[in-house]
Amino acid sequence: MIEIGEAQQKVLEEVPLLGRERIHIVDALGRVLAQDVEAVRDVPSTDNSAMDGYCCRHEDIVGAGPENPVTLTVIGDSPAGRPFGGEVGAREAVRIMTGGVIPSGADTVVMVEDTRLTGDEVECMKDAGPGAHIRHRGEDVRAGETVLQKGDIIRPPEVGMLATLGHAYVHVYQRPLVAILSTGDELVDLDEPFVPGKVICSNSYSLAAQVLECGAVPISLGIASDDDADQRSRITDGLRADVILTSGGVSVGKYDLVKDTLSQLGMKVKFWKVAMKPGKPLVFGTIGNKPVFGLPGNPTSAMISFEQFVRPALLKMMGHENLYRPLIEASLAEDMHISSGRLHLVRCKLFERDGEMIALSTGNQSSGALRSMVLADGLMILPADKRPFARGDRVRVQVLHTNSPLSPHSPYE
Ligand code: AMP
Ligand code: MG
Repeated sequence: MIEIGEAQQKVLEEVPLLGRERIHIVDALGRVLAQDVEAVRDVPSTDNSAMDGYCCRHEDIVGAGPENPVTLTVIGDSPAGRPFGGEVGAREAVRIMTGGVIPSGADTVVMVEDTRLTGDEVECMKDAGPGAHIRHRGEDVRAGETVLQKGDIIRPPEVGMLATLGHAYVHVYQRPLVAILSTGDELVDLDEPFVPGKVICSNSYSLAAQVLECGAVPISLGIASDDDADQRSRITDGLRADVILTSGGVSVGKYDLVKDTLSQLGMKVKFWKVAMKPGKPLVFGTIGNKPVFGLPGNPTSAMISFEQFVRPALLKMMGHENLYRPLIEASLAEDMHISSGRLHLVRCKLFERDGEMIALSTGNQSSGALRSMVLADGLMILPADKRPFARGDRVRVQVLHTNSPLSPHSPYE
């Protein structure tokens, strides 16, 4: 039996970084940049106004105020997109809108709120200093600067920045195709009649959702019976994917054939059985350089094993540098009894009390119980060699849902 940390490192050593692809910037949301992005020009490309108002020479309005306004002659307009072609001379002003190009000669903008217009004469009632309300050329981004870097995750601001820099397409890392097979004679699929004693196959769906949540692409290989020919044929269908994921049939029961089936297909076993609870019967290996995960069949074991091994692997393949869920420290809400000598991952709810995070078990921790997984915000990490764990002890919690619970409160209530 291998320790969980060592097993995770073995997985990460085996998984390849995928190649690049060129896609549209909006489709790139959530993907990892596979190139540096340099600015080819200054942003903004010219000095322009941050306000609606009048631009003029600062020397003309020095000391202007409500009691001693300065009168200037309005000689034209500079709306956004239609620059004023002329020059602003002494005691002259040009009406300017937000984003309008500052005409030559002008060096200051007086906000429209601080002016009074009569005919073509404008009274300026404020001196906000030289250069007031001007956005200078290149103040956001300078030509030649590397603005985004290989490895950056593309979020909405990055999409906006790419557009600002004139890029419609960018290089990102490819997404792995992940072939998912459920195994077990007892399983029925959602389009099959349910008979008591059978079990609805949920793993195909929860695992597909986990794959999607990582940003990768699931492919279903359906359900194989506990029969090596059926398993072989379905897994063979999955060999065109980048990753193979099976669930069930990797324990030590008479009908646990998956490990043998995978070996028949040429899998080199890197490890089998991990010192964790839930999730002990897990086999990991490679067919060629394709990672293969034989996850346990119990629904929660499968999901928690996915979290510890498959998710970091998929993220690495897609070019992510940070591979792990956030970890926080929390105090135990109750004593926790650790039954086995393995590391326990306990489904828990997180809440705050007096500025402190508290972790509370979500109930039935059986490997088959999904309800406690549905209720969980995270997994308490309880190493067996640190037991006993008593109420109030500080433990580490792997946070599974950073946006959960969503707040019922708007910040502006
Ligand atoms: P196994 O790992 O094949 O021994 O399965 C362990 C437990 O998980 C059994 O109770 C199975 O019925 C259940 N199980 C296996 N595969 C699935 C699946 N795809 N969906 C739901 N439960 C499953
Ligand atoms: Mg089985």
